[in-house]
Amino acid sequence: MIKKLVLASANTGKLRELQALLADLGIEVLAQGALGVPEVEETGASFAENALLKARHAARHTGLPAMGDDSGLVVDALGGAPGIYSARYAGHHGDNAANIRKLLHELRDVPPEQRGAHFHCAMACVRTADDPAPLVCEATWEGCILHAARGHGGFGYDPVFLIAGETCSAAELKPEEKNLLSHRGQALRKLVAQLRTWPER
Ligand code: IMP
Repeated sequence: MIKKLVLASANTGKLRELQALLADLGIEVLAQGALGVPEVEETGASFAENALLKARHAARHTGLPAMGDDSGLVVDALGGAPGIYSARYAGHHGDNAANIRKLLHELRDVPPEQRGAHFHCAMACVRTADDPAPLVCEATWEGCILHAARGHGGFGYDPVFLIAGETCSAAELKPEEKNLLSHRGQALRKLVAQLRTWPER
């Protein structure tokens, strides 16, 4: 099993979550920022490709095993948009309020039964920058898009994401509840399970 992993993300919430999960396995998680890894352009055509290119980039710069992730919202009535462009849907990276406004505007005439959507998350681990056998885990979270925002928790599109089979939005869940259901929580648990038996080679 590997002993160290660089997380190819600047998100401190993701870092803490991964550190807690991997501490039990004896894997130390390091932030790429602390190791001087520059940002990489997300040029992949899929969530998995972007997760992998972030991981390879961090491994190339540090010489250590690395993990990258990519996620987003896929809306049926929009042909899968915003997809891999979720963070910058309205133009500026990470402007959640503008992204939600644009999404609700695009869906203004779409009836409830056609507002299906899901979140998708891909996570990738590589042992070296050119590892030919990376570990890639993916998961989805089904729901539909509300007509107006609801709740104050979470981030991104959570306030307009009505969870399938529930009466609340993702922004109305406690963090630990969201973690049990979400695309990211599911993908991460799959990845951690596989890391247990991943040869160091
Ligand atoms: P990243 O993978 O962290 O870069 O996330 C990409 C973008 O997808 C975020 O900026 C959000 O707009 C959206 N997104 C991904 N996961 C979630 C989630 O759990 N809730 C709400 N929005 C999300």
